[in-house]
Amino acid sequence: MEIVIVGGGVMGLLSALVLVQANCKVTILEKNAGALESSWAGGGIVSPMYPWRYPPVVTALAQWAQAEYPRLAQQLLAMTGINIELNACGMLMLDAEDQRDALVWGKQYQQQIMPLSTTQIHELSPLLAEFSTGLWLPHIANVRNPRLLQALVNAVDCLGVQRINHAEVVCWHTQQNYVTALETRDGKKYAADAFVMTAGAWTGKLLTSLDASLAMPVKPIKGQMILYKLPKQVLSQIVLHQGHYLIPRQDGHILCGSTLEDTGFEKQTTEEAMQLLKKSAKRILPLLANESPVGHWAGLRPASPNGIPFIGRMPQFKNVWINAGQFRNGLVLAPASANLLADLILEREPFVNPDPYQVL
Ligand SMILES: Cc1cc2nc3c(=O)[nH]c(=O)nc-3n(C[C@H](O)[C@H](O)[C@H](O)COP(=O)(O)OP(=O)(O)OC[C@H]3O[C@@H](n4cnc5c(N)ncnc54)[C@H](O)[C@@H]3O)c2cc1C
Repeated sequence: MEIVIVGGGVMGLLSALVLVQANCKVTILEKNAGALESSWAGGGIVSPMYPWRYPPVVTALAQWAQAEYPRLAQQLLAMTGINIELNACGMLMLDAEDQRDALVWGKQYQQQIMPLSTTQIHELSPLLAEFSTGLWLPHIANVRNPRLLQALVNAVDCLGVQRINHAEVVCWHTQQNYVTALETRDGKKYAADAFVMTAGAWTGKLLTSLDASLAMPVKPIKGQMILYKLPKQVLSQIVLHQGHYLIPRQDGHILCGSTLEDTGFEKQTTEEAMQLLKKSAKRILPLLANESPVGHWAGLRPASPNGIPFIGRMPQFKNVWINAGQFRNGLVLAPASANLLADLILEREPFVNPDPYQVL
């Protein structure tokens, strides 16, 4: 089967990897240089931030993907020599108001969640500020997402996926209820048996531009992030406090995120966000008050209602598929989303009930 994928972020690259390994011939059309949008900008927490606040259908994909990540990391290392730095460092949530809900959820989904006192928080992570309550999820990992993307690019290249950058899809050609080809801004046409839309935050806009009658509720929500670099690693866990977080990398980098801004397709960084994130970073880890951030960027998350992604065939066309709308959880959900998409396209028994993710 020949498949053309639109968008070269984590969703497009991982979908391509799974499909090419199932003997499909795959082309990725990417409007920019590829792997530089939300998937690059994200933090790389391999879990929803407060997992119990999400619908069970998001949990189902997250749990499958969390179990799959170590295998993916091994596979990418073997294929490309790139270590994606999957680090099962655990996640500490400070002063979460809904501790009871968290513990009930943990029991239901067999996820270890331990309540911690002020003393226990201090024992676990001595450099943190003082907090009265904590929840400790020891098995949560983070992944160094820019390396994940580089490894995916190298892996799909190795397997013969054709990646075409600076190829913005602007229209399509249809025959009854089939799409026959996609056309890029430079007038080139790409024919295939099936087409997959993984255009992240642009997916809704892209579909409407291809056919004004198509409306998909996927829209951009901007997130800004700042980065510190310390001489060595001083923080071992992901730490969350009141919606903001610190993510440690093993080389001394610490990411602090993130904002949630409904400002359309612009992705300017702002001084206001810088000050907000610096304040949060200092509140969690006081020694960061003496440090200046070495990076500041923004990305556009593909927001969908309730964060439930759209994974499936478009009802209007027999050969157009969507894998988009993972919102704040695209890095954790990517392996599950790509595999579910491939199961559906290749008519394999899906590993999870696909109905909740159906495209409307
Ligand atoms: C600040 C921030 C922090 C985050 N933290 C986390 C986290 O810790 N954990 C987690 O799981 N998730 C996190 N996320 C969310 C995650 O990054 C996204 O859900 C995920 O990366 C979406 O991947 P994607 O491939 O759908 O989109 P993208 O990575 O945005 O890729 C879409 C691609 O489609 C291309 N494209 C668009 N239109 C066209 C067109 N017409 N033709 C061709 N190409 C096109 C774009 O150029 C882009 O490269 C975070 C996001 C942000 C912004």
